[in-house]
Amino acid sequence: MRILLVEDDRELGQAVLSSLQHEGYATDWVRDGNAALHALKLEHFDLLLLDLGLPDLDGREVIRILRQRNQNLPVLVLTARDAIESRVRALDLGADDYMIKPVEIAELCARIRALVRRRTGTATPRLQLGLLELDLSSKQAFAHGRALDCSAREWSVLEYLALHAGQVISKEQLIQAIANWDQMLSANAIEAYVHRVRSKLGDCGVVIRTVRGFGYMLSETEHGS
Ligand code: CA
Repeated sequence: MRILLVEDDRELGQAVLSSLQHEGYATDWVRDGNAALHALKLEHFDLLLLDLGLPDLDGREVIRILRQRNQNLPVLVLTARDAIESRVRALDLGADDYMIKPVEIAELCARIRALVRRRTGTATPRLQLGLLELDLSSKQAFAHGRALDCSAREWSVLEYLALHAGQVISKEQLIQAIANWDQMLSANAIEAYVHRVRSKLGDCGVVIRTVRGFGYMLSETEHGS
């Protein structure tokens, strides 16, 4: 799991970075808001750990721009500010949770796990939808218990749609979710991946519908069990 840490305080940033790496999270650290937005544009992260008081772009501005771009990764705000309005505004702008500094690493890791669980809607790394089962650790999909032969990009598309089952996902969102594979991915390429994933799913109680003008939605069919 990949985390982007945005913190301008060197000592605190270093401490959080090494703790998270020690916990097994692949963590990258940037020190200002613009660098964060740049990194989030280029690469896929599973969670953003964001300081609110940053030298250039305020943390809340980072969240606002992020949500405008339809990047919906979980955002955990770190703040030294005790003004409640500041935290409320961050939550209103689309932050998922906040912690007041100084943070206890054990609690920080617990909150990260909770956010990721909440986002994926699952307590285990296996996701079951109809007769489709995804093993999120080994990146293997099974339909009727048989392994599906998916390429890395097809898997990424399927995983993202399955983790957001019941929600309409735009092609832009899909591109961002798998942008680390190919930053030049086009909308046409996404259509091709979705087409291939659809044909591989077959009749397993799960369909990927095209929502014209908006994107795609993966959901269980009525007959799915
Ligand atoms: Ca700061």
